[in-house]
Amino acid sequence: MVRDPSPTQFEVRPADWLSLDEAQSRIFTEASRLPAEVVDVQDSLGRALADDLEATATLPPWDNSAMDGYAVIGEDIAGASPSAPVELIVTTALRAGEVRGGPVETGHAIRIMTGAPVPPGADSVVRVEDTDAEASPGSVRVLGDRDRGRNIRPAGADMRVGDVVLLAGQVVTPGTVAALSALGLTSVPVVRRPSVAILSTGDELRTPEQYDDVRNGVGIPDSNGPMLSAAVAHASGIPIRLTSARDDVHDLRERIENASDADVLVTIGGASMGEADLVKRVLDDLGFEQSFWRVRMRPGSPFGFGWLPREGGKQPVFGLPGNPSSAFVTFELFVRPFLLALAGHKHILRRTVRCVAGEPLTGPEDLACLLRVGLDSASHPPAVTLVGPQGSGLVRTLSAAHGLAMLPAGTREIAKGERVDVMLIDDAPAAEPYRGV
Ligand code: AMP
Ligand code: MG
Repeated sequence: MVRDPSPTQFEVRPADWLSLDEAQSRIFTEASRLPAEVVDVQDSLGRALADDLEATATLPPWDNSAMDGYAVIGEDIAGASPSAPVELIVTTALRAGEVRGGPVETGHAIRIMTGAPVPPGADSVVRVEDTDAEASPGSVRVLGDRDRGRNIRPAGADMRVGDVVLLAGQVVTPGTVAALSALGLTSVPVVRRPSVAILSTGDELRTPEQYDDVRNGVGIPDSNGPMLSAAVAHASGIPIRLTSARDDVHDLRERIENASDADVLVTIGGASMGEADLVKRVLDDLGFEQSFWRVRMRPGSPFGFGWLPREGGKQPVFGLPGNPSSAFVTFELFVRPFLLALAGHKHILRRTVRCVAGEPLTGPEDLACLLRVGLDSASHPPAVTLVGPQGSGLVRTLSAAHGLAMLPAGTREIAKGERVDVMLIDDAPAAEPYRGV
């Protein structure tokens, strides 16, 4: 069908053209932590702790041996050497888990295993390698005195009752699980994960079942929807994929209205200047309070953020541009940190590393530019090269990028060998296995 070409319906409203920093700070100041829930420790990996957690026991509970060897009085072994061994009477043996025995007396030693309580009187544990290991039963010859005053781990060295061991906002890692176990916990308060409705838009989009249309050159695969589901899951969120909407006000309106239960709504595409770019018009009809539209960045300038009035509150809405790398980059810079803040994380920004350009890196001078790059970690600092062409419509390079090299607004080129900051995007594994929702 040939459409009537007039009148034009290009977007005419003024854009805000915020700087990247201003856009980020406007969004991040609006993020407030969701309520807590209690989960089993085994299900808490990747979640943010909702409360500070205190020790209710002292660990280690007793002074204990750091070595397998002999608990002795330090003075007794002074000057011991292979040519002048000191012989001590071995009275008893202690293993980890055994209650403290009687004291060590001068001229005596107690055989002791790692972790066992150090008997009263002993101030040293001689490692077994520095002895004859009781070659003649009942006594031990000590062949060196380097362990005099050493190898005793004091009670409470790890934690004491009342110590704050873990902080709210800390992410549960395997190391955190060790600390939770040391606190005697089997369940833990964590912050709820935000649910995120994801809406692809566009008459040209096809599902995998409709891929024949793509083969036949009459459709585009919806790569952004699955990509953003994965990105949401990777950012502590619970993705809810909506059926993609056609470029039709009624279809768009119905899908957006049905997404009211989600903590966050992410729309993709339909948000720039074209006459099929209807998302903002539909949002406006629903009472959208726009915070801003358009950012001085490439890719991703037609990005917008605001609030949709919903029953019982306001829903944050991120309007991502449809070009795949634009959607990817704006998710990374704006949506991911926001979701992590909702999920209670203290550190919401990706790690940035100082690198050097392995080739000239260029971008438009008036925009902050984010380039998909690979890092050669064999060199120090790592050398950065483009993973391929940077066109915003390209999908392939998204899978190859280790990071986003940042050319701030005002920089047209970073010459080979000059410093460049790179936001790492390939570090953390998913909070839980991504199941392809
Ligand atoms: P739009 O922002 O809707 O004008 O889309 C810009 C470009 O991104 C167009 O070439 C679209 O076909 C493409 N695009 C939009 N949405 C998606 C999507 N979900 N997956 C892949 N490409 C998309
Ligand atoms: Mg579109």
